Amino acid sequence: MQSSVNSTRRPSKKPPVSSESETTGTAASLIPAKPTLTSLRRAASHCKACDLWKRANQTVFGEGMPKATIMLVGEQPGDQEDRIGRPFVGPAGKLLDQALIEAGIDRADVYVTNVVKHFKWSRAERGKRRIHKKPRYSEIHACRPWLDSELDVVKPEVLVCLGASAAQALLGRGFRVTRQRGKPVESSFAPVVIATVHPSSILRAPDEKSRHSEMKAFVDDLKQVARLAKDRRQN
Ligand code: SF4
Repeated sequence: MQSSVNSTRRPSKKPPVSSESETTGTAASLIPAKPTLTSLRRAASHCKACDLWKRANQTVFGEGMPKATIMLVGEQPGDQEDRIGRPFVGPAGKLLDQALIEAGIDRADVYVTNVVKHFKWSRAERGKRRIHKKPRYSEIHACRPWLDSELDVVKPEVLVCLGASAAQALLGRGFRVTRQRGKPVESSFAPVVIATVHPSSILRAPDEKSRHSEMKAFVDDLKQVARLAKDRRQN
């Protein structure tokens, strides 16, 4: 697996946030002529195409094998991802790792990324905790060229949307993960496209029993992904 920064660094001091927009250009204008994951990651580290860069520590680009069979797409990096600079390394990422193992999917055959590359957050009313805030449609739209470029380079056989934000960004705003999870849908993004829940939703389950059943359903969806990926490899 490709990895970038691996150190746990504290959030750097940022200049005060202006109420005016300080966005610069579009993400598309930063895409290199012949993109690779390395050149895309480097270019994305300078992106200011929406306001989210201002309150985050760094761009959190996708990572994984350049020709991975399976691409997993979540919503946005979380607090730990923003500090470390890598996707899916916080509590939800650890749960995802466990679910992939249970589903028999090798992380080395997976590329993980998000539809939005900067952490959107607000300060908790008490304490210093940074609370995840759902990105707006305009922010998802501004960030889309990065995801499109990752798809162009990796060309996954199976694309998996994790949660409603990723599914609706890629499959339309009418897509309902609750109704359509685990079922392949027609899409031009990859030969097989499928959606399931975001692992963070399992962490929010109200009790141990529902957490256990939601984890089982998540692993079942990933087992379906493993079967579909195997079929594609044999084609
Ligand atoms: S969220 Fe995406 S579009 Fe917005 S500044 Fe970050 S990388 Fe650029």
